[in-house]
Amino acid sequence: MLKLMLDPGHGGKDPGAVANGLQEKNLVLTICQQIKSILLHEYEGVTVKLTRETDVFHELSTRAKMANDWGADYFMSIHVNAGGGTGFESFIHQSRSSVSVATQNVIHDEIVRELGNVTNRGKKVANFSVLRGTQMPAILTECLFIDHPLDSTKLKSSSYLQQIARGHANGIVKAFGLKKKAANGAGAANSGNDPKLVSAIEKLHKAGIISSPDYWLQNAKTGKTVRGDYAAALIQRMTDQFF
Ligand SMILES: [Zn+2]
Repeated sequence: MLKLMLDPGHGGKDPGAVANGLQEKNLVLTICQQIKSILLHEYEGVTVKLTRETDVFHELSTRAKMANDWGADYFMSIHVNAGGGTGFESFIHQSRSSVSVATQNVIHDEIVRELGNVTNRGKKVANFSVLRGTQMPAILTECLFIDHPLDSTKLKSSSYLQQIARGHANGIVKAFGLKKKAANGAGAANSGNDPKLVSAIEKLHKAGIISSPDYWLQNAKTGKTVRGDYAAALIQRMTDQFF
């Protein structure tokens, strides 16, 4: 299970970059919430936390500590740039762990691919506090310039923010090899041949939670039927609840 800590930059008394009627703190919170939603709804084997879910202020050291205390596997801080440029860039810490380099390569390229026609400012290194303070591989992205006329027009579009989120999610999926959930929402526990489902049923039976494993296997094996999906979903729910 991949534990991903998303860090929407700034918040509360610190709006981050402000221009063209936009505030960085709001844009990055929206993007992070959408990344979380995409990953949790569409992929399995991933759990996601945000350093802030609302418009509150945290010190940089607190953000890193949250990720360290949780034991996150990966830390992704998201910002919007300012200062007279245009386009997208990403940063890892200058100590450059090989995992950080490899994940930056994949994630950066996926974001640029998703954003299409933006200036690619490159994969960079920096001694940023959240990158220095986190004990796991980490990345910080700067998603366009709030004070650039064309960039800010894009940032005002909710579908463009969704594209930015999709790019980040795609990067995480590719970098960590996440698998898509089955379309019915019951995860991979849909096919009768699914070893995960079979072992889940055996485990529930051994623990005395279900009495007739064959009945459950039979139902789940009916595959893509309402009954099969229902049985698989129930097995999943019982597994989540009891183990
Ligand atoms: Zn920022």
